[in-house]
Amino acid sequence: MTSSTPLSCENMLRQAAEQIGGDSPRLDAELLLNHVTGLSRTSFRAWPEREVTADQAAEFHALVSERAAGKPVAYLLGHQEFWSLPLLVSPSTLIPRPDTECLVEVALSLPVPAAARVLDLGTGTGAIALALASEQRDWQVTACDCVDEAVTLARRNAKELGLSVEVMQSSWFYGLTPGKFDLIVSNPPYIANTDHHLREGDVRFEPSSALVSGVDGLDDIRQIVEQAPDWLEPGGWLLMEHGFEQAGAVRSLLETRGFLAVESRKDYGDRDRMTLGRWAGRSEPSNQQTGERHAQ
Ligand code: GLN
Repeated sequence: MTSSTPLSCENMLRQAAEQIGGDSPRLDAELLLNHVTGLSRTSFRAWPEREVTADQAAEFHALVSERAAGKPVAYLLGHQEFWSLPLLVSPSTLIPRPDTECLVEVALSLPVPAAARVLDLGTGTGAIALALASEQRDWQVTACDCVDEAVTLARRNAKELGLSVEVMQSSWFYGLTPGKFDLIVSNPPYIANTDHHLREGDVRFEPSSALVSGVDGLDDIRQIVEQAPDWLEPGGWLLMEHGFEQAGAVRSLLETRGFLAVESRKDYGDRDRMTLGRWAGRSEPSNQQTGERHAQ
């Protein structure tokens, strides 16, 4: 059954989905109409004839045009769910991906002290740090990001969710107060600067500082692996997300640096998406401790 009035939900959704195209046009349209009207997505099915106001229709059409031009739904809505947490997002940060929830699961499964000190490097919205803090109230979670707006956003997300995460401005370890952690996690930029995906879909609208990392995508991971031992307790863990074709390279970086128990784990699509290692020994002083971060 379809409706015919121009302002009925079904009519608006059908036209919007046609205009939006792409992978999930109907879902995108429903999320945008829900955002504008406050009506639930199930209500669109139950009462397709229901009409929206002319103002709501105008606001919806404007959002649909932006979506049709490629802007990610999360940026249009201003929020994105991650680990069942409603997070504010902005174009200054990466939109949290479902696959990164797999990294949270692995982090939560590691043997660390009850009041573990945990660091999330390049936190963006705060997604990983906040998910960990929401599960382990006794963990002392610190998060950092080099981008001002990301630090502000992550702090705001922590406040809105009532979670205790300390958010610092720091490019990897360079701006942190010296200290040791039981677990360091990161979803760093890891896409090669020539990768064609950067010209497709939602990533076109995301900040390249959160996505791109040199010619092979590994510049930032190399820096983190090099410096992490200086910041890890003996027996502490480093866990990083990476591209699904980078697992072998990341394992060998960790092994070469002296990490033990190095292994890769899968994402929801069964692809090697993260690698971890344990720092057992005493750190050799890193010669990059005072170096500058590589240009992106
Ligand atoms: N997984 C993301 C993508 O492929 C990239 C995230 C990142 O670089 N950290 O779009």
